[in-house]
Amino acid sequence: MNYRFYTLFLFLFAVIEVNAVENYVRLTPEEQAYLTQKKVITMCVDPDWEPFEIINAEGEHVGISADLISLMAKRVGLNIKLVQTKTWDETLEKSKSGQCDILSFVNQTPEREKWLIFTQPLLSDPNILITREEHSFVADLNGLDGERVALPEGTAVLERMSKDFPNLKMIPVVSEADAMEMVSEKKADMTVRSLIVAAYVIKKEGWFNLKISGQPQGYENHLRIGVLKDEKILRDILDKGIQMITPIEREEIINKHTGLVVKDGIDRKTVLQYIALTLLIAAIFLWRYYDLKRYNAKLLELSITDKLTGIYNRLKIDERLTDEQKKVNRYMNYRCSVMMIDIDFFKTVNDTYGHQYGDDVLKQLAELMRQNFRETDVFGRWGGEEFMVIFPNTSVEDAYAAAEKFRRNVEENVRSMDKPVTVSIGLGTFLTAESVDNMLSRIDAALYDAKEQGRNRICTR
Ligand code: GH3
Ligand code: MG
Ligand code: MG
Repeated sequence: MNYRFYTLFLFLFAVIEVNAVENYVRLTPEEQAYLTQKKVITMCVDPDWEPFEIINAEGEHVGISADLISLMAKRVGLNIKLVQTKTWDETLEKSKSGQCDILSFVNQTPEREKWLIFTQPLLSDPNILITREEHSFVADLNGLDGERVALPEGTAVLERMSKDFPNLKMIPVVSEADAMEMVSEKKADMTVRSLIVAAYVIKKEGWFNLKISGQPQGYENHLRIGVLKDEKILRDILDKGIQMITPIEREEIINKHTGLVVKDGIDRKTVLQYIALTLLIAAIFLWRYYDLKRYNAKLLELSITDKLTGIYNRLKIDERLTDEQKKVNRYMNYRCSVMMIDIDFFKTVNDTYGHQYGDDVLKQLAELMRQNFRETDVFGRWGGEEFMVIFPNTSVEDAYAAAEKFRRNVEENVRSMDKPVTVSIGLGTFLTAESVDNMLSRIDAALYDAKEQGRNRICTR
């Protein structure tokens, strides 16, 4: 029955795997209670940071971060309410004064750590150097001297670069668009931007005299949700939701907002569904295979079993006789004895008591054979009221002893209507190079001898 278990296991595994993707986030009772009590989570966002996020003319939060957050919120079951702001400064103001529980999409910086704690990144994206076309590739910013870097005020990149590269001259500007414009118009040598934003803006604004000249190490944007410091439990809940966002889902969302084809990907769920389907088909085939195997085994068993008595039939006996004959010919000193049993006056049993009683005697005899012979002996019904026993690796003397024991057993135990039933037996041993037919003729003749000499006896030839 083991294969049934494995089949079931395969099937369950497949179902669980597929459903795992659909699973919603599991929250602890404490987290559940927090959300029930909290009801609404207020969120501040950057109102003007395409394609990451903006607040559009309808006052809705749209963009990459909006899609990532709403996907995450749906999975966790969060009710997030947007706090309207006009500028990034206003957003920071409201966040600091606690008017919004979360800040949607920010880099973690020491400055911001003063009032925020952070989730794991919703999205990671390299920062790249943007220069004019003629600028050479920048492998290491430390190797430059006095170059002007235009960066928007209040950004994490400006905060860090001022510290990391005292050899460069920082030019704070109002917006990222201003920074790009300054580079384009030779008022600055370079700016640093998120790869996603740069790709989007260069395409949108048509700044074709700009190019990507390098990627400063350690300047990846890890864009996280900032959470007010005393809302640690909320941060943990958000982390659980973020964990559920797959790389493919991220890519799809980025593509949707940048019009960039990042690469073809197959959705994890689709892959799992294929795996599940394959496993299911495999399971069905396995099940069918073992069913067929069992069915075939049953057929084979039926084909070699005598229907009335349940012991071997002539087909099996014939097969074994052929095998034994080969062994006798191949191995020196290998002997095989065979006996043919015929019930005495069986016609009378049938005629006196009816066929049913005759059948019953045949069954009694078969049962006695089961009890009488060794496991290595092969016995079966040869046909009608004749039975045959093959004694592999047995001399005629030993076979005679077994035959005599059986004969007496029949005489003492098998009855037809209280009258003892007896058998006559013809016994012989395979001679070297003797055919099966020849051996059978000899024991048939021996059986005839036994009948002739008065029945209920054994004769050998
Ligand atoms: P003996 O062998 O001692 O010479 O006498 P017998 O009466 O046994 O003679 P024979 O071998 O010629 O008769 C065999 C009888 O066995 C004939 C047939 O009616 C009976 N027989 C054969 N197969 C079956 C069977 O499947 N069921 C029953 N009830 N009888 C069967
Ligand atoms: Mg007969
Ligand atoms: Mg007979």
